[in-house]
Amino acid sequence: MNKKETNTERTGAPGWLELFDLSLHTDVEAVSPTGPYIRGTVDGDTSFTPSSDILGPAGERPPRQNLNPGWIELKTLLVHRDTESVSPATPYVHGYFDEAGHFFPDEPFNIIGLELDRPNKTESGQNFLWYPNAEIIEPEMRTRGRYPNGYPLGAIVHYTAGRSLSGDANARNTISWGRQEGYAYFCISNTGNVFQAHPLDRWGSHAGRSSWPGLGEWVSTKLVGIEVCCAGKLTKISNDAYKSWFNEIYQPHLVRHSRSKDNIKAGYYHKYTDEQEKALIDLILWLKRNNPDVFNFDYVLGHDEVAPDRKNDPGASLSMSMPNFRKLVKRLYEGM
Ligand SMILES: [Zn+2]
Repeated sequence: MNKKETNTERTGAPGWLELFDLSLHTDVEAVSPTGPYIRGTVDGDTSFTPSSDILGPAGERPPRQNLNPGWIELKTLLVHRDTESVSPATPYVHGYFDEAGHFFPDEPFNIIGLELDRPNKTESGQNFLWYPNAEIIEPEMRTRGRYPNGYPLGAIVHYTAGRSLSGDANARNTISWGRQEGYAYFCISNTGNVFQAHPLDRWGSHAGRSSWPGLGEWVSTKLVGIEVCCAGKLTKISNDAYKSWFNEIYQPHLVRHSRSKDNIKAGYYHKYTDEQEKALIDLILWLKRNNPDVFNFDYVLGHDEVAPDRKNDPGASLSMSMPNFRKLVKRLYEGM
């Protein structure tokens, strides 16, 4: 395989690399990843700049004795076998190829040599009450009491079902509105900025009537809320227009369609941005690292899991189901 040479400066399109068949896709295509994939910028047929960890489910794989070990170099998509006497160029993913050339990354998933600029400033167990990467907003949102352990046991992932395309302004509005309504939560703008307006030892309302095994009812008393600015469920009005409940129109590249799966109810959803997904993952990893004895990834839940009769969020606004999201954050935490 040879990289196509180019002298012209080109700007790539947001998309992903499907690891199974090494195909590149851009977000404007009406398909979703099917197996493990990496988000990034796609530039032509053979140039890719990764910007995420390996996402998505591991899925089925053939027996290892029928597979050949090797690796994929991500910037060029060059493929090598372990039997070749060359060293990998970073960043790369090691795994196994079957006879048809399909690739199965090693588990736990790991991109070797990719610096994702994760917020690692907190040492484990410091039990800070404010996220160092958040912008703190005053006055505080209303809290109702202290968590039984002085820290949330987990988190609820929401979407605001509101405007998001104006970035931080929408996140600030979400906090102002929530403060008036007596709620408390983190909020993530569509550029991936995180806003915090109450300390982590106190709980506030965000999930309403809800329940989960091991947590009982009214999970807001035990789990912190994370609102992601996003229009949420959409209605298709034509092949290139989807409408939110507040009558804003979204183009197809902002929309994800999903069948019914795990927590996800079938339908069209306004996608979280890549920046939002990264910020959400980073926040969850930090919440765990900050107080690993109390925060439990098994209690990182979708609002649509704890209130399935009433709620659709996050649904397919998140690029994976909540069970797969929990697997992802566990894998990433183990690899830190
Ligand atoms: Zn919600």
